[in-house]
Amino acid sequence: MKKKTARGRYMFLTGMMTASLLLAACGMGNTSYSVDQLEEVSSSAGSEEMTADGAASASNAAGNGSAGNTSETGNGKISGTGSGSAGKAGLQADRVTPTPTPAMPAKEKISFDPTWEYADESKIHTDPVTLWHAKGTTRKDIVVAVNAGHGCSGGDTVQTYCHPDHTAKVTGGSTSSGATMATAINSGMTFNDGTKEAEAVLQLAKLVKEDLLKAGFDVLMIRDNDDTQLDNIARTVFANNCADCHISLHYDSTAGDKGFFYIRVPDNASYKAMEPVASNWEKHDALGEAILAGAEESGVRIFSGGSIALDLTQTSYSTVPSVDVEVGDKSSDHSEAAQKIVAEGITVGLEKYFRENPVKDGALARLTQKNGSLSGKNSESGSSRLTETDSESGSGRADENGGSEEEQAADE
Ligand SMILES: [Zn+2]
Repeated sequence: MKKKTARGRYMFLTGMMTASLLLAACGMGNTSYSVDQLEEVSSSAGSEEMTADGAASASNAAGNGSAGNTSETGNGKISGTGSGSAGKAGLQADRVTPTPTPAMPAKEKISFDPTWEYADESKIHTDPVTLWHAKGTTRKDIVVAVNAGHGCSGGDTVQTYCHPDHTAKVTGGSTSSGATMATAINSGMTFNDGTKEAEAVLQLAKLVKEDLLKAGFDVLMIRDNDDTQLDNIARTVFANNCADCHISLHYDSTAGDKGFFYIRVPDNASYKAMEPVASNWEKHDALGEAILAGAEESGVRIFSGGSIALDLTQTSYSTVPSVDVEVGDKSSDHSEAAQKIVAEGITVGLEKYFRENPVKDGALARLTQKNGSLSGKNSESGSSRLTETDSESGSGRADENGGSEEEQAADE
């Protein structure tokens, strides 16, 4: 048997608190849920042998709004002091079989920092993101931001600038060429079978996350529920500051089952001269090519030449290698079986990219240097939205994009 330690109890509480936060964020905080659901949420949180009693405690914690304590997680674990909640954790001691102490927490929340570059261009950024750490000896110390597109209720009634210098968009897309402002984040398309794009890409993002963690990547999950209040700029700013690359996941709004492709940077002189595009566009395209190669290698069907050039908000604000991946379209198979192959392809592509472009002083090092811990400054933990349970993936709003195939592409 594993020995019970104060550290172990602390780890348990941390796991439970984090699970509570996630459950509460999903609107499940005040409802009863099964142990299975809880284990699914917290299976990587260091609480492998959870009991039914433990589940009940998590429910109470969520109901009491204690999730704000999550901030202590990062401090305790990163510094190795285990400070803060150990006393409270003792309440759970007789209900838990602790797991071995990992070098890092399984996951932690990071809140939006208004001092980050381009942060003031974002209009929606009240929710935190979750940084998942890979376990064991295969850790790469590389953070991949996985951004399940859409899933931000109300995002299509807000506008943000297309470019950080407020110049006009150089290609069409969900916003026309020449516009200086675009929808902060739209609700996405609906598949022919009625499934919302936001739902399909969230399912895919979770599969990608699991594959990446197994491969030793840390994963910054930009969205892990149906409604994450972060617009496209906020998501990009999070990736810029907390990750070594940014992959957004989408299905296109055409209906020809066109296959997999990525959005490359348009070959436009003024666009490629604008920062931060000027300093980063080659990395964006190299990342796109690597992921395309990984997808092809894994047997994913590729659309045409594998890329379309578009001026996207994501690319316009990205200071880390960043790519919008379009996995298919309205007619494509978005079953878990089909998505597992895509997830594997993305992982193979990222391994290839980072073999060729090793990370030096990456996001983890920068975050630790800046904060003393990864989440030391995130005491608010986005708890402002814990009680809001509106919107099941922004349903009810149709995708209003029109125009040619290229114009319909990549409604980010
Ligand atoms: Zn999309």
